[in-house]
Amino acid sequence: MGRVRSTDTSPEMIVRRLVYAGGYRYRLHAKDVPGRPDLVFRRRRKVIFVHGCFWHRHSSDCPLTRMPKSRQDFWAAKFEENIARDAEVQGRLLKEGWRFLIVWECETKKSLWEGLMVKIAAFLDS
Ligand SMILES: [Zn+2]
Repeated sequence: MGRVRSTDTSPEMIVRRLVYAGGYRYRLHAKDVPGRPDLVFRRRRKVIFVHGCFWHRHSSDCPLTRMPKSRQDFWAAKFEENIARDAEVQGRLLKEGWRFLIVWECETKKSLWEGLMVKIAAFLDS
């Protein structure tokens, strides 16, 4: 896994650049918003999370969501924690009137940027 950093991962940078190029302005990791979302659109009361498929357990048909072959109990517990935390954060956001979009790591491949931007714009403009 090498460098363990929760911010400035490549998928997040891709999303930031796309959003910026689309003319939207945002804040990063605002501390006063539940879950410290990656991108915060305060006036629109919307947030975007860029989730790593492995850690946040994207759907089982995502190739990045494979289950490690060793220490499966450890991983299963870890994943459960992550999923529970995400659900808790999402519940708090909704309660406080925020709407959220999750962009998955596997959606940030260059060949998918156009569709991703359409999806992001639809979310931010709705
Ligand atoms: Zn994925």
